[in-house]
Amino acid sequence: MSSITIQSLSKTYSNGTKALDTLDLKVEEGELFFLLGSSGCGKTTLLRAIAGLEDLDTGTILFGDKDVTKVPTHKREAAMVFQSYALWPHMSVGDNVAFGLEERGVRGDELVDRTLEALKGVQLDGYEDRRIDELSGGQQQRVALARALVVRPKCLLLDEPLSNLDTQLRLEMRTEIRRIVKEFGLTAVYVTHDQEEALSVADKVAVMRDGMIEQVGTPRDIYRHPSNKFVADFIGEVNTINAQVDTVVFDDHRGYSVRVVSMVGEIFQGQVTVDDWRPEAGDMVMVAIRPEAYRFDDSGDVLNQVTGKIIDSVYQGPTIQYLVLSDHGIYVQVSELNPLALRPAGQQVKLTARSNDVVMLQP
Ligand code: ADP
Repeated sequence: MSSITIQSLSKTYSNGTKALDTLDLKVEEGELFFLLGSSGCGKTTLLRAIAGLEDLDTGTILFGDKDVTKVPTHKREAAMVFQSYALWPHMSVGDNVAFGLEERGVRGDELVDRTLEALKGVQLDGYEDRRIDELSGGQQQRVALARALVVRPKCLLLDEPLSNLDTQLRLEMRTEIRRIVKEFGLTAVYVTHDQEEALSVADKVAVMRDGMIEQVGTPRDIYRHPSNKFVADFIGEVNTINAQVDTVVFDDHRGYSVRVVSMVGEIFQGQVTVDDWRPEAGDMVMVAIRPEAYRFDDSGDVLNQVTGKIIDSVYQGPTIQYLVLSDHGIYVQVSELNPLALRPAGQQVKLTARSNDVVMLQP
């Protein structure tokens, strides 16, 4: 395993599409790192660049301290797992897995032992003589993983590996991929557009947009402290309100926190989590509050409070999602966990949020 460092990577396709734009990124050794973003933002291009499958305009790629920018794919010690699995359907499981090793000149007992070891790693021991077209989708994905693992790569590159599986299997395989990556001590880069998948299994996530990286952080960082509205919107839902800073509440070891007043006089207090931005009295900010951060509350606390009436609701089992129209004419999404009863449309409500759950973004 080794770290992956990407410096100033740019890639323009022959039709003029700029898929990567002077992108920098560091994946630490042993990390399960997710590239997350909507379709067309450059995730696959970046993954293919790491694998050595793309000609680049400019930039450098290091595995550990070694510059691999000009190293051909088969010498990079990176193995890729594709969405389509790319297995040979009429060949046996064992032959599919052994193929990459044979290509590398491995023969005899070592070939057999390593093939069986890789199959054991993905819990398919005993399946070596089965044909691929006799396996379920989940089992085929395991074979694809075994085929990547058998060459003992330094980096495992996964391109939407679960997108062909149904929901239940996808959940199972997510955990399984994490187990395998950790057990084999791999550095892994995983491409997905599924934010839930990223949040639930990643050590770290990079949110991409237009060939650039918007934010890198742990799932919790990215969800609770998005650095801008794009990231906040991409990972879950968020309510935003424009407001003006009234006072800086604290600027110390607890962080940077401000009290702000919205255009209609509501008072909010929350944290500024972007390192290089320190809004002061009079500056404009965007108050961001997740739907689940709001509580239906009658405590009388005027901080982070919105009053309004219920317009609509969607029952989702564990939660009910409400649309509330504030008294000042702003729509607010609120989700209530483990609801006892449905609040009827037209009901007047008071919502409050804790300051810890309120984030100030640059407008
Ligand atoms: P993602 O994986 O995030 O969906 P891609 O890396 O596949 O994004 O694509 C990034 C951009 O590059 C898109 O605009 C896509 O249309 C374009 N693109 C990808 N592959 C090619 C190609 N072979 N030729 C021309 N344009 C491409």
